[in-house]
Amino acid sequence: MAKLFDTHAHYTDERLFGNDLLLNELFSADISHILTVATCMEDGAECARLAKRYDGIYASAGIHPHECGKSGSLDDAMTVIENQLTQEKVVALGEIGLDYYYDFSDRETQMRFFRAQMELAKKTGKPVIIHDREAHGDTMDMVREFRGRVIGVLHSCSASAEQVKEYVKMGWYISFSGVITFKNASKTLDSVLATPPERLLLETDCPYLAPVPMRGKTNHSGYLHFTAEKAASLLGMDYDALCALEVENAKKLFGIQ
Ligand SMILES: [Zn+2]
Repeated sequence: MAKLFDTHAHYTDERLFGNDLLLNELFSADISHILTVATCMEDGAECARLAKRYDGIYASAGIHPHECGKSGSLDDAMTVIENQLTQEKVVALGEIGLDYYYDFSDRETQMRFFRAQMELAKKTGKPVIIHDREAHGDTMDMVREFRGRVIGVLHSCSASAEQVKEYVKMGWYISFSGVITFKNASKTLDSVLATPPERLLLETDCPYLAPVPMRGKTNHSGYLHFTAEKAASLLGMDYDALCALEVENAKKLFGIQ
């Protein structure tokens, strides 16, 4: 069975946390690796603990735009994140970025945390995981500012094909979620086609964004193959070849042997 790397999941979410039965099933089926992504300092500690318990699980550390307003002093927060990044199997800084759809943290605070975490990525050499919702222009400007010094992945990509091409030129990877299986996804499908296969990653963003035909259910990595099948057919690639390449791409970006 062709294996996949779920490059963006939230196994510390209460809907999935502690489900050892599910995780064991996933690893004995078609999942080789999972990157469980942190949203705040507390979550980062939890993600790192989970990564210690499972061979196939890796973790990130970072502050999501929703959490910036609740994260206290920027300097103190960056000290905590920098420390978490030194832990075993913590392979990326994220998720960081901007969310102008919900605006749960004010934009100025989101921007300060985003920039500080990009600086930290530059300092530590870790790849970043970017969340960009309705903030394509400002996100791109920040990535341009760090061009050649910070790379990473644009997660659950909703950027245009033109923007994707620019990210790719700057050395970035593009990750697609179950959104590409949705009926109204035509714009995102153009972005898949604009992504060179050697820069393509796949993710569930579980427990969110379950792909068709599981839409509306609690998502998990066992549904990632629906997204992979859609990507393979779009790109005209053999399913097994796409899976093998996706795992290779993710290991390369996250520095996993
Ligand atoms: Zn996420």
